[in-house]
Amino acid sequence: MNYKRSSALFSEAKQYIPGGVNSPVRAFKAVGGDPIFVKEARGAYLYDEDGNEYIDYIASWGPLILGHAHEPVINAVIEKAKKGTSFGMPTEIETQLAKLAVSMVPNIDKIRFVNSGTEACMSAVRLARGYTGKDKIIKFAGCYHGHSDSFLIQAGSGAVTFGSPNSPGVTQGTAKDTLLANYNDLKSVKELTNGNKNEIAAIIIEPVAGNMGCIIPTDEFIQGLRDLCTSEGILLIFDEVMTGFRLGKGGAQEALGIGADIVCFGKVIGGGLPVGAFAAREEIMNHLAPDGPVYQAGTLSGNPLAMSAGLAMLTELNNNPGIFESLAKKTEYLHQGISEVLVRKSVVHQINRFGSMISVHFADGPVIDFTSSARGNNDTFKKYFHGMLSQGVYLPPSAFESYFLNDAISYADLDKTIEAVKNVF
Ligand SMILES: *Cc1c(COP(=O)(O)O)cnc(C)c1O
Repeated sequence: MNYKRSSALFSEAKQYIPGGVNSPVRAFKAVGGDPIFVKEARGAYLYDEDGNEYIDYIASWGPLILGHAHEPVINAVIEKAKKGTSFGMPTEIETQLAKLAVSMVPNIDKIRFVNSGTEACMSAVRLARGYTGKDKIIKFAGCYHGHSDSFLIQAGSGAVTFGSPNSPGVTQGTAKDTLLANYNDLKSVKELTNGNKNEIAAIIIEPVAGNMGCIIPTDEFIQGLRDLCTSEGILLIFDEVMTGFRLGKGGAQEALGIGADIVCFGKVIGGGLPVGAFAAREEIMNHLAPDGPVYQAGTLSGNPLAMSAGLAMLTELNNNPGIFESLAKKTEYLHQGISEVLVRKSVVHQINRFGSMISVHFADGPVIDFTSSARGNNDTFKKYFHGMLSQGVYLPPSAFESYFLNDAISYADLDKTIEAVKNVF
């Protein structure tokens, strides 16, 4: 494949944008080489500036669960744009999306829209602190909750990929209020809650992790967290920015059968436009301004363009919940196909999968937390990534990321992908 124009565009971008990108993982640092510049995308396929075509397994890192340029979403945005893009005043469509989201997701009465997953998680933690009157939070090594200061303590994906888990610029004062536990290790959480009695406002977790590859919580771990939070008066925050409206209508709460106290959304809820949200039962949400004292605001929050994309997306998912089932089946098919090839070629590997999230780890033991995920062989991963790319399959350019399947991917695309894996090894 020829990447001439992409490389030229990247060189120019680097002169004006730090690293040539507006979000680090796009730069291909973990896999080497220059990133692909996208010209357009439709359905399951990306088309780059050199005219190459790829089957896309990142779907803009999750949002585009129905595929690229999905017509109902695009049409909704176009029609809305003609009537003005933002007013800084309330609009009916905000309530429409709020009402629909609340009807789909368990344990939430009210929802507040923001502009990104980062904002959602940051605001959820402030709300938890304001509600409980406590300062500290517990997060898990390898979980990513956006780039706000309190979370850049052993964060997953982008932050881990670049080996700077504790970013310069995050103060000691902020870092000391974030306590770190290990995923799937209830004991590590109990040590922290015992050592910090009545000081912990919230435990925040990716209920199915996607930022250290896809990692599934054990029943015992996730139920244990729920019980611990209830008995200690700690709020359990599910960061469902990845899993919300992807693992089912009700996200991970529904898929795992575990209720959270505050839920964060992003990605799918915006249908490909910048939207995040956080939600909880009424008693907690009423602490938020203007009803309560916990401040949170946004000039463009709930703007009609973003709301129209989100509403079109969630409406379709709500009306056709079979999409979740069919995506999970496709993902299982991909899992089996890749697994058969790697076993036949004697490539040491683990595959983790939940619903339409899947990750291939070139590791020799089960991948259940950040430490075991980091044991994967990165040289094999690079070979795999570039081998797939050169055959027209776009995978996440980091071993710490989950793939996100979209509904436009066909079984023929999956077969082509499995064939490509065979060719790489
Ligand atoms: C993507 C992501 C975020 C951050 O969302 P942005 O919109 O990139 O700010 C937070 N939490 C999780 C679990 C994510 O996957």
